[in-house]
Amino acid sequence: MELGRVLFLTGAFATHALVGTALVYGFTDADPRLGIAFGLLPDADFLFPAAVGWPFVHRGITHTPLFALTVVVGCYAMIRERAVAAALALAVGSHLAIDSLSPKGIEWLFPLRTDWSPGLAVHGPTATLLLWTASIGLLLWRADGRPSLR
Ligand SMILES: [Zn+2]
Repeated sequence: MELGRVLFLTGAFATHALVGTALVYGFTDADPRLGIAFGLLPDADFLFPAAVGWPFVHRGITHTPLFALTVVVGCYAMIRERAVAAALALAVGSHLAIDSLSPKGIEWLFPLRTDWSPGLAVHGPTATLLLWTASIGLLLWRADGRPSLR
């Protein structure tokens, strides 16, 4: 893999982890590390073998609202903690929201195929700076002792 691609992916992964962590820490009482794990979860699709094909490709099934709903409802059914369910919804949802704005977009209507996207450079320098600033601001705001939105 070329260096530019490695740096791009590293920045994208770090952004998804930071945004997920900030949202979980800022708005729930769940363990903020859930924001890292579940903020990155949709990109586990990078581990799918290339030979498998649609929908087990990057920006395939793991980047759909159906997947997010399945994760949240499935985890809630097992754990029965609203704070954890809210944390997972925020973390996975933030990943999908960010990626949905990118040129490649996501499959909002899966299993139907769509190709709509606003085409924003959400993993470019400007958007990354905005997302990191907002996330750090949220972390600082919550660390300031203000109550969560329970
Ligand atoms: Zn992604």
